[in-house]
Amino acid sequence: MLTKTSEYIESLMVCEEAIRRQFELSEYEIADEAQGDADPLRESEHMVVPGMINKYGNRVLCLMTAECAAYCRFCTRRRLVSDIERGRINTGHIDRWVDYLAQHPEVREVIISGGDPLTVDDDLFEYALRELSSLDSIGIIRVGTRVPVTAPDLMTSRKLDAIARVEQPVYVGIHFEHPSEITRRTVRCVKDLLAAGAILYSQTVFLKGVNDDYQTLYDLFTELVEIGVRPYYIYRCDPVPGAGHFRVDFDKERRIMTQLRRNLTGLAFPTYVIDAPDGSGKIPVPLDFWNADTDSYTDFDGKKHSII
Ligand code: SF4
Repeated sequence: MLTKTSEYIESLMVCEEAIRRQFELSEYEIADEAQGDADPLRESEHMVVPGMINKYGNRVLCLMTAECAAYCRFCTRRRLVSDIERGRINTGHIDRWVDYLAQHPEVREVIISGGDPLTVDDDLFEYALRELSSLDSIGIIRVGTRVPVTAPDLMTSRKLDAIARVEQPVYVGIHFEHPSEITRRTVRCVKDLLAAGAILYSQTVFLKGVNDDYQTLYDLFTELVEIGVRPYYIYRCDPVPGAGHFRVDFDKERRIMTQLRRNLTGLAFPTYVIDAPDGSGKIPVPLDFWNADTDSYTDFDGKKHSII
């Protein structure tokens, strides 16, 4: 994956180490490149038409682009992200997605992701939202993005209007890692999305040296819920190549989450999960309230995995 930052994120990196670590190429990443699994979620095996992944039957993932405003060094899709030409989607691709959905009415939910779908041009974003939401069988549209954190100015009024025009609920999942990412400009962007009628939730990855302490996550989740973003998932960092140095000790993660469960309002507490390495789904991690076996777990397909 190439390196890239935005002017905006550069301005935050200067004063916040936790943000710099997320975007700056490190010697640890280079040393770890040969380790791990490039596609731990097994997405490539479930691509039903170019750019569309159907792993679960009732929901599909649409990869709108391989570009992001800035590239996170721990990205789960680093095998694709930054290869902009290979990931380029046009209206022809979107028409094929719509044809597939018309033939599969059991799919109720479309998740528009990438890369970052809010980096595509306004025409393409409008087209995708209009066409995908035109199907009666689709009950929910989701958009996964980090633009409110990495380049809030990319949230144009045309994109907001496109969201506002969708009849179905539009859930926008915003990737946050640290409370320093909740700046005045990010809050403005969040407010614009809320005004456009979007329902907002967050996703976070546990990252060593970035957010692996109680107070940082307490502040992050509290501030998110207070600006209208519901904390949804916190993930154990996937074992992708180059990201090993970000993985936090598992017992430490569980201790932090147990303490957060005690003290946070329930609305601010996200589900803590491990994405099973064979792509079978997100497995909730038990907290210290239970005497559970925490060395291994069984995924949705009944397969046993050790914690890594
Ligand atoms: S914004 Fe998302 S898709 Fe892009 S590099 Fe970061 S984690 Fe990966």
